[in-house]
Amino acid sequence: MTTSVCIIGSGYSAATMALHLLARGMQPDRLAIVGPGQLGQGQAYGCVSGDFRLNVRADLMRLWPDQPDHFAEWATEKITDDPDARTDVGDFYRRRDFAAYMAEQISAFPAIAEISRHQSLAQTITRGPKGWWITLTDGTAITAGTVVIATGNPAPEWPMKPPPADAPGLVRVPWRGDWPGQIANDACVLVIGGGLTALDALHSLHRQGHGGTITIVCPEGMLPPVQTAWDDAIPLRWPSPLRGSGFLRFMRENIGDGDWAGAEWQRRFESLRVNISAAWQRLPVTDQTQLMRRLGWLWSLARFRAGPQASASARVLMDSGQLTISRDIVTGLTTTSDGGFLISLGGGAQIKADAVINCSGAGRDRLMIRLIGDGVIAAHETAPHRPRMTTGLRLVKPDNTPHDSLYAVGPVTAHFVGDILGAASISRQATTLADHLATST
Ligand SMILES: Cc1cc2nc3c(=O)[nH]c(=O)nc-3n(C[C@H](O)[C@H](O)[C@H](O)COP(=O)(O)OP(=O)(O)OC[C@H]3O[C@@H](n4cnc5c(N)ncnc54)[C@H](O)[C@@H]3O)c2cc1C
Repeated sequence: MTTSVCIIGSGYSAATMALHLLARGMQPDRLAIVGPGQLGQGQAYGCVSGDFRLNVRADLMRLWPDQPDHFAEWATEKITDDPDARTDVGDFYRRRDFAAYMAEQISAFPAIAEISRHQSLAQTITRGPKGWWITLTDGTAITAGTVVIATGNPAPEWPMKPPPADAPGLVRVPWRGDWPGQIANDACVLVIGGGLTALDALHSLHRQGHGGTITIVCPEGMLPPVQTAWDDAIPLRWPSPLRGSGFLRFMRENIGDGDWAGAEWQRRFESLRVNISAAWQRLPVTDQTQLMRRLGWLWSLARFRAGPQASASARVLMDSGQLTISRDIVTGLTTTSDGGFLISLGGGAQIKADAVINCSGAGRDRLMIRLIGDGVIAAHETAPHRPRMTTGLRLVKPDNTPHDSLYAVGPVTAHFVGDILGAASISRQATTLADHLATST
């Protein structure tokens, strides 16, 4: 088939891109979307567990940048069976409820049914005489004038080499929340990683009255702070030009010496974040790399705060001694003769567990790796599995000139744009790209 614009991906970024294009008058018969599952859900919101919640409060989940309270108002009206969503620092709804919101937003555009949908994965993209030639895993081929890659958060891989074979008790991809029911109540559980996915795992286990011990192994040796009731972030203007040291100084000066658990600290942090992407892109790549190496982990902890519900569960588990946190990394995993697991840590210790939950973060994007390997796009200077890009979200050819019609949006751009991971920043990015594509394609 032939189309004007082909969006690759079927999660929030892809849906947001499609909605913003339709909202700008693009005809649906000019669009194709490639990706499995229900449009708008993806890895983030295609979640079956009611214990997995949004990690930001409702008014920060912004699909429509010019209507910041749209989701919050929708949820207040429609989500009437979830009293636990209400907390004293805001409303934190179930992730699956955000998927329901997305479904409703999509259905408000009947034209979306006319978009050509392919429930498959894009395997290769090559430049042909008539445009981009996209092959899918189901054997279909699509020709498109413009391609937007929105492949999001690749499914997590085991962090140890060799990775273990699938077995009961091993959860490689915990994001859907379809596994807690399979963990025996008295199982010793080992959680790899200490970020928001680990918090989701703790919350689910606590909610189902888990009785066994839980150990978290993470290099930070601590869990993210909890969300606060911060408000009124004032967008700060970052200085320019800027080097890494100045970037750090600007952050320090504006955050001050307060307690990072407090609302004022988070308000100041959020004030920095509003324009951080532009400032980040102006930094020399070497400075970006150094900053990431030295402070990336700290940034992640401060940036990705836990929802109050999950954080409260973690506190209860810790206070009772049921949960321990080991500051280390997991280096190996073997199956024992009794069907359990022996986990080796970098520091030399070994831990026995009946179940292991992999909360080590997203894996690698196979399509991007393929495009880099095929010489269609250049790899980023310091992130060799990720694409080199321009500020206009174009992917770059190996000869360092930008493609005129191959773009990316969402988390696949995070290494370049900096901090494009949350729903609100993705929709801002998608509106800018939609403005451009609606007039140029
Ligand atoms: C577990 C989790 C929870 C999160 N919670 C929040 C939150 O509470 N609030 C918030 O603001 N942000 C949250 N985020 C951040 C999230 O990245 C964004 O909000 C957003 O959902 C990203 O959407 P996406 O479509 O880019 O990515 P994804 O949700 O990862 O979806 C990508 C989609 O693309 C498809 N795909 C991948 N490769 C191909 C291919 N080759 N061909 C075709 N299709 C492909 C996948 O199957 C998937 O459906 C969360 C992220 C995760 C992973």
